Amino acid sequence: MSRRWYRHNTNMVFVGWDRALGQFLLTVAELCTRCGGFGEEPTTDNFCFACGGEGVRHDSNSLSSLGTTANLDDVAAELAKLNIAFPDYVRADLEEDKRTNVGELVHYYVQDPTQTSST
Ligand SMILES: [Zn+2]
Repeated sequence: MSRRWYRHNTNMVFVGWDRALGQFLLTVAELCTRCGGFGEEPTTDNFCFACGGEGVRHDSNSLSSLGTTANLDDVAAELAKLNIAFPDYVRADLEEDKRTNVGELVHYYVQDPTQTSST
């Protein structure tokens, strides 16, 4: 399956194409409040204590109840409901994943060029 993720404000959005299911997956997690999603202790290079280096709050469930869907419009609608951006290039990549029925793929969108930082 493909795993693509990007940050939006205090959330981490995971989307991907599951080849076995033939469906898209969506998970929206809250960023770790200790490291701000970077996965490292603020003062050292060690793994963040609170999240184990994953950058995501351990006690947070997915904010999305969508789960899996065969339709990208459902993903778009769900993200819109949560006030989270669904950049066109992410959507385009997901359509490509479906078209090619992609296997293992991991991609992290470092920064959304359409968003200006508010910090
Ligand atoms: Zn952390």
